[in-house]
Formats: sequence, structure tokens, C-alpha cells
Amino acid sequence: MKEMPKADVVIVGMGWTGSIAARELAAEGLRVVGLERGGFRDTASDFPAPNVLDELKYSLRGALFQDLSRDALTFRNNPNEAALPMRRLGAFLLGDGLGGAGVHWNGQHFRFLPADFQMLSHNKQRYGDGAITDDMTIQDWGVTYEDMEPHYDRFEYLCGTSGKAGNLRGQIQEGGNPFEGARAREYPTPPMEMGLVQQRFMEGARKLGLKPYPQPSSNLSQDYTNPDGAQMQACTYCGHCERFGCYNWSKASPLTTVLPVALRNPNFELRLGSRVTRVELTPDKKHATGVVYVDALGHETRQPADMVLLCAFQIHNVRLMLLSGIGTPYDPATG
Ligand SMILES: Cc1cc2nc3c(=O)[nH]c(=O)nc-3n(C[C@H](O)[C@H](O)[C@H](O)COP(=O)(O)OP(=O)(O)OC[C@H]3O[C@@H](n4cnc5c(N)ncnc54)[C@H](O)[C@@H]3O)c2cc1C
Ligand code: SF4
Repeated sequence: MKEMPKADVVIVGMGWTGSIAARELAAEGLRVVGLERGGFRDTASDFPAPNVLDELKYSLRGALFQDLSRDALTFRNNPNEAALPMRRLGAFLLGDGLGGAGVHWNGQHFRFLPADFQMLSHNKQRYGDGAITDDMTIQDWGVTYEDMEPHYDRFEYLCGTSGKAGNLRGQIQEGGNPFEGARAREYPTPPMEMGLVQQRFMEGARKLGLKPYPQPSSNLSQDYTNPDGAQMQACTYCGHCERFGCYNWSKASPLTTVLPVALRNPNFELRLGSRVTRVELTPDKKHATGVVYVDALGHETRQPADMVLLCAFQIHNVRLMLLSGIGTPYDPATG
């Protein structure tokens, strides 16, 4: 097996989570290696208009999604069925390649409500202890909305998110979501323009005494330069967000925000075509010591590191942990 020099951090998968971690940790001075199974992607070279508006290629044949003929996904409806390979993705469109699903996501950009962080205690308080039975898996997150607010704020300003605040430092704002948690400041860009249907819906909802508000999104309502100096342009409302890369630098994605910063940092090394097969552990299985991957030339390679971050998307993260002997497999038959 090929042995690579030890890194401080190895990141598996370069979607939103991997790219953010790479940007932050490399900026802290750590030597970071990012392993991505897919290939390079960039707005200018990969998504020029009008080619990127090819609905057959991107929407129906899913050029940006996980290739099911290479990486099989299986599915079953209940434990008694044999899990069979999925031949076609439905609404669940897994990412592949630099930027991951963050390239073809929609960019809808909601924060959790304060109660979402405390689902267990909130529901107990509201409906009584008896409402939550022992067989329910509901939990509090362990962090509160107030803990997360500065991070939400930072990410929105990184993405240039468009929207209207409903609660600014505890003061309810006209036109925003009055039920949201308090935010430190307004959205970085104003809400997107509304079409006739949305305008009529807003009018109707208001007449019923409801409080409609524009959906926050990282499809930008106006030109914007984020705190890292990344420039984005006002959306053209072309309607090709989900399943497509944005040709116009109008949809925040790892490619338009964090990755250019990470890639400029000499502490960060990106290795594409690198498919991680397992996490290596100390003999007591308490610490990760690195990962094993198959590189772009097909060589099995070991990348030792002090820290291993699984950022391959939740189902792949769980699969990699199980393949590595981390955790106990969930048995649906016994719960
Ligand atoms: C069509 C679509 C629309 C969405 N719209 C929204 C939205 O509007 N708002 C919202 O908040 N969220 C939305 N989401 C969800 C959001 O995009 C994802 O939750 C988010 O992008 C996940 O980021 P991630 O880094 O966890 O994983 P991913 O972006 O999936 O990145 C994982 C990366 O890991 C790589 N990888 C996987 N396995 C390996 C391996 N073994 N070795 C090396 N690399 C590996 C993959 O190739 C991929 O690039 C949408 C998702 C999709 C698919
Ligand atoms: S221009 Fe606007 S609608 Fe078109 S893909 Fe980009 S963000 Fe989406």
C-alpha cells in the first residue's frame, strides 16, 4: 500500500461540510488533506450558459449526481425484504465531485427555530412528560439557538443570503417571520423578487390574518461580495437551480464561496478521484489514525492524520464508520 506523509487533518468528501472545514482548519495553520472521490468542478469551465441548461443531461440523466452504476445504493421498505439496488434516484439526489450536493442544491436557507434545538424538552413542556414514550428517539441537540446564532449569521453573510428578518435582537419586524429566533442583524441581501403567484398568495394569506414572509435563499437578489472577497451576481431567475450548477455565480455553493479560499491556502491539499474505503483505528478502536483510499490511478493508499473528518454525507459517513468497525450496526428487526 502506498503511504502518504502524515497530515494534521484528513477530510473525506469535499461538499459543503468538507469545504468549510478545509477552509477553517487550513486558516488555523493545520496541514489539511481533502479527499474527494469525484472530479474537479468550477463555474467558468463546467457550467457555462447555455450548455448548463441542458435538462436531459443534468435534470433527467443527473450528470452531477452520484453515479449509481459505480456506487450502488440499496433500498428496502421493511426488514423482511431483500435490499435491492436503486437504478434511478428520486428526489434524493446525492452529490459527487468537488462541491458535492452543494453545487446542485436549491439554496433555500432556513435557520432552525429555537424550539427545534430542544425537541425533547420543548415537547415535554408543551404536552407533558407522558407525551414522549420510551421507544421514541427524540432528543435535544445539546446546543441552543443562541449558541448557533453567530454561526448562522456568519454562514448567511458568507453566502449572501437574501431574505427579510422577522426578529432583530428581540424586536419583531414587519414582513419577516415573526416566529424565528432573534437575529443579530438583517440578511446580507434583500428578499428575491416575487412572481405574481407568490404575490397573490401573500395577499390572500394576509387577509386570513396570517404572516407570510419571503423564503430566505442563497440565490442572490443582488450583486454581493462576501467577507472573504468572493463576488457573486444577482440571480437571473433562470429557474435552473436544483439539479444544475449555476452559470451566473448567483447561487452560493462551496465552489463560489469557501473552496476558492481553501484552495489558495498552501496548508490545504486537494486530492480528487480519491475514494476512501475505511478509517484506520488504534488497536483499542478509540482513536482514528488516518484513512485508506483508492487514488485516481487505482493505487490503494494510506493517509495518516491526527484528525479524520467524515464529510462524505450522512449515509456515506455511517457506511464508512460501519465498514471501519466504528459503532454498532442498527438492526431494524430488533430496533
Ligand atoms: C437536489 C438537492 C437540493 C437541495 N436543496 C437544499 C436547499 O434548498 N436548502 C438546504 O439547506 N439544503 C438543501 N439540500 C441539502 C444540502 O445540499 C445537503 O445537505 C448538503 O449539501 C450536504 O453537504 P455534505 O457536505 O454533508 O455532503 P455532500 O455535499 O453530499 O458532499 C459529500 C462529498 O463526499 C464525497 N464522497 C462520498 N463518499 C466518499 C468517499 N468514500 N471517499 C471520498 N469522497 C466521498 C462525495 O462525492 C461528495 O462530493 C439539497 C440537496 C439536494 C441533493
Ligand atoms: S441564475 Fe438564479 S435561478 Fe438561475 S441557477 Fe443561478 S441562482 Fe438559480
